[in-house]
Amino acid sequence: MALLKISEPGKRQSAINTKPAVGIDLGTTNSLISSGYRGNIEVLADTSGQFLLPSVVRYGKGVRPIVGWMAKEAAIGDPQNTVSSIKRLLGRGTSEVENMPQFEQYTFDASRDEGAPAIITEAGVKDPIQVSADILSELLSRAHDYIGEDIEGAVITVPAYFNDAQRQQTKEAANLIGLPVLRLLNEPTAAAIAYGLDSKEEGNVIVYDLGGGTFDVSLLCLKKGVFEVLATGGDTALGGDDFDYILSNWIAKQVYSDENPILEERGRLIAYANSVKHHLSLHESADLEFNNWRGSLNRKEFLEMCEPLVKKTINTCRRVLRDASLSVEQIDNIVMVGGSTRMPIVRQALESYFGRAPLAAIDPDKVVAMGAGIQAEVLAGNKSDNDFLLLDVNPLSLGIETMGELVEKIIPRNTTIPVAKAQEFTTFKDGQTSMIIHVVQGERELVSDCRSLARFELGGIPKMVAGAAKIRVTFQVDADGLLSVVAQELSTLKMSEIQVKPSFGLDAKAIEEMLRSSHQNAELDMELRAIKEAQIEGRQLIDAINSAREIDGDLLDELGHNHLDNLMHELSENISNGTIEEIREATERLNRVSSDFAASRMDLHIGHALKGEAIDNIDR
Ligand code: ADP
Ligand code: MG
Repeated sequence: MALLKISEPGKRQSAINTKPAVGIDLGTTNSLISSGYRGNIEVLADTSGQFLLPSVVRYGKGVRPIVGWMAKEAAIGDPQNTVSSIKRLLGRGTSEVENMPQFEQYTFDASRDEGAPAIITEAGVKDPIQVSADILSELLSRAHDYIGEDIEGAVITVPAYFNDAQRQQTKEAANLIGLPVLRLLNEPTAAAIAYGLDSKEEGNVIVYDLGGGTFDVSLLCLKKGVFEVLATGGDTALGGDDFDYILSNWIAKQVYSDENPILEERGRLIAYANSVKHHLSLHESADLEFNNWRGSLNRKEFLEMCEPLVKKTINTCRRVLRDASLSVEQIDNIVMVGGSTRMPIVRQALESYFGRAPLAAIDPDKVVAMGAGIQAEVLAGNKSDNDFLLLDVNPLSLGIETMGELVEKIIPRNTTIPVAKAQEFTTFKDGQTSMIIHVVQGERELVSDCRSLARFELGGIPKMVAGAAKIRVTFQVDADGLLSVVAQELSTLKMSEIQVKPSFGLDAKAIEEMLRSSHQNAELDMELRAIKEAQIEGRQLIDAINSAREIDGDLLDELGHNHLDNLMHELSENISNGTIEEIREATERLNRVSSDFAASRMDLHIGHALKGEAIDNIDR
């Protein structure tokens, strides 16, 4: 498969008059939003010129949630109703987070023990999806002020180590406010894109992200415009806060000859230490003044204090390289992310370890949001041809035909390749011994509207009742775009296989045409699919009852048979002529009535089994 451009059809390909998209860095401490609406990618500020939005939400009774700086200030006075660091709770269970020290101020809703951790606030119970949605909504309002209401969608960044549940919940947060997610993008990849590293043919990139409370390092490998995460490492409890803490202890020792001042001074001391730290990022030394004490501190002294922290981060880099079996000489670029990389001591440590200067031209607070914004523009189709980010992707969904001539997609379009995905299927009829695997390509719901790629047969399936056999179908697309489909029956391990080149005879125009028709027909297709599925379910129920009656018909009296006959007739009629609701209702009625019959069959067969007869022998 050639390198294909990622763009939706039917959208303008020039940078003028397009539907804008946004990039979002949804951070643990701070969040940002960017847009390429006016040509260059810009991070959007609030009305007072602030780019960072603290990821903090305060929930009050009867008022709209307050997000950002005002909420952050309220956290001290109203900790129970002010939610921070919610990103750490995404994708986790209540029991997992209840004992995390940074969340001890919250009351979790115990009745949702199995589900997501939900925090009880004055404004009701708030789970991580809701809180994230409120942060997204605040960011989006910045975009609306800047662009207007019409936004195509967003690229949202997530840490490289986020698992499926965490990624899924990030998407759900966006869904909750009706914001289409064009793609989730790994934070380190976004940072590398912001520096244009994706335009290189290949290379290894270290992304070093030292924020307020967390440290992440990722090793990315670039091949033909696609970043692959080779290894990640980090510390979820190491960040700028620790530098503040060490410096505040030192100041306390000077002021009180004691590292542990009275509690009330703690907060003020830490805030003061933080301002000194920021000052030392710009100046060689700082004059200090705290509670009538005067002194000074230079960079070298600060470095000595904080050296253990910096060393720890370098050790993590070393481990990440070792995990990927790479040496420092094989690293082509070092990208710095996070406010704490502004400290010269961090830059120096990186430079001396890697033997080259880290990239520092872009504000480390904005770099992830910038990369997300660039990717969003590309995905929304707002870049001119030569600005395209080239990614090796599967341009159209690949799937197989299932009952009712419906398409089950196995590898969705725009999945980066190489990729392998498997799904299990089953037989439709009792005693079915073979299966035709029909491989199709396209976005439509019906097989007849898609492109047929290949057909092959899997035989030798042992006779079983409908729905009992398990057939695993694996789709694999290699780096050259060659598709292999393997179907395997899981009890006998019998398998059958075919290979096709899905791009054969398909040019960019044909792809675009297929995408356009799927967009135009999306709603109709969904309805068609739903009705087909209801019909299949109904037919399956009729088949199942018929074969059960052949075996155990004498368990029913005449009245019972008549009753079933009537309902089955009614269902058949609806399958042929009824609406989807009518089919569903008729299926439901037949299901209810036949369940007594099923129960007495069960009793009978358990009785047989207890007498030493295998159920298999009874059924056949
Ligand atoms: P997160 O990724 O956790 O959301 P950020 O990337 O916003 O966090 O980083 C916040 C941290 O960066 C804070 O500890 C802050 O003190 C620190 N920081 C910001 N600017 C500077 C600076 N000029 N010098 C030193 N530290 C800084
Ligand atoms: Mg960050």
